[in-house]
Amino acid sequence: MAGVYHAFGRLAAVQGVDLEVAPGEVVCLLGPSGCGKTTLLRIAAGLEVLQRGSVSLTGGATAVPHGRHLPPEKRNVGLAFQDSALFPHLSVLENVTFGLKGEPVPQRRKRALGLLEQLGMAAYAEAYPHMLSGGQQQRVALARALAPAPQLMLLDEPFSSLDARLRDRIRDDTLHVLKKVGAGTLLVTHDPEEAMFMADRIALMREGRIVQMGTPRELYCHPCDPFVVTFFGEVNELNGEVRDGCVQTPVGPVGAGWLAEGTRAQVMVRPEALRITERDEPPEGHRYSHVIMAKLLGRSSLLHICAHGADGREAHLHARVPGVFLPAEGQPVDIHLDPSQVFVFPSRATVAGA
Ligand code: ATP
Repeated sequence: MAGVYHAFGRLAAVQGVDLEVAPGEVVCLLGPSGCGKTTLLRIAAGLEVLQRGSVSLTGGATAVPHGRHLPPEKRNVGLAFQDSALFPHLSVLENVTFGLKGEPVPQRRKRALGLLEQLGMAAYAEAYPHMLSGGQQQRVALARALAPAPQLMLLDEPFSSLDARLRDRIRDDTLHVLKKVGAGTLLVTHDPEEAMFMADRIALMREGRIVQMGTPRELYCHPCDPFVVTFFGEVNELNGEVRDGCVQTPVGPVGAGWLAEGTRAQVMVRPEALRITERDEPPEGHRYSHVIMAKLLGRSSLLHICAHGADGREAHLHARVPGVFLPAEGQPVDIHLDPSQVFVFPSRATVAGA
């Protein structure tokens, strides 16, 4: 799709989106509630009439220019939405074979059973939807969408009604099937971890626009702005001015040579970026970094640290340390930074005033 705009009355829900999904590629639309993900998916599906821009499937073979509407059933797309209802009077197998017109019955059954098998639902082929849990119904809806071998799968929060343990397995199975079938997939989620797991590329959206598009690694390791950093988890925010190519912070100098001297900078430090080591003795003088509180979260420990910089400034920070690491309250510590988890941006006031 290119240059897609969409408004509901005076509300501009999608504001100029360009997006491509290659065959076999999984692209996740990620972003906070109300940023326009579902609207974009519904436009691709033909459930919303295109207002501005263009949508095409397979290199323009089924182009949908502005002013013309191609209904969902005429597009070669498979839809599985959060609330995709199964036909209650049809069995699981009949639900999946429903869209397979023009093929001999044994072939339809074979294909449907194959997909149900891959999604762990073959044993329920003769069951009816009311006999299934929400998660099982979602898997059947997915098999039904995949059965006609669409060019593009459109999935809206397909794992949202599953509990955490089941979700991991079904995500795994779904990704496996999508890759095997080789359809391009556009998947909507608001969960960054889900997007990182499922996506070849993520389009992170805010207020109707794509803020950054790239592989999970590109977005996580090279975020283009503070919104992208914060979307992937909690961060410690420190501020300072660029002097001699660095910003001085209470946890040491952070390189910022690409910013002009004197620029006010926002330093974003992931809790994982802080390496904490205990000191036997407090350092000389009476101001030193120390632990305020330590909590075990399971696979990691969360430390609340009061950091004192060489410049006398103080900051309260969260550090996340793998495993069980629970120093006592008041324990003096040294803090080291992993620079790959620290990001520097000109502070908003600087950008606004520029
Ligand atoms: P969520 O994650 O909560 O589903 P989203 O990113 O999918 O959010 P959309 O559902 O695309 O967001 O909605 C984008 C904006 O458009 C929101 O402000 C929403 O309230 C508005 N909106 C969506 N559908 C309609 C509609 N049919 N009529 C009016 N406004 C709508």
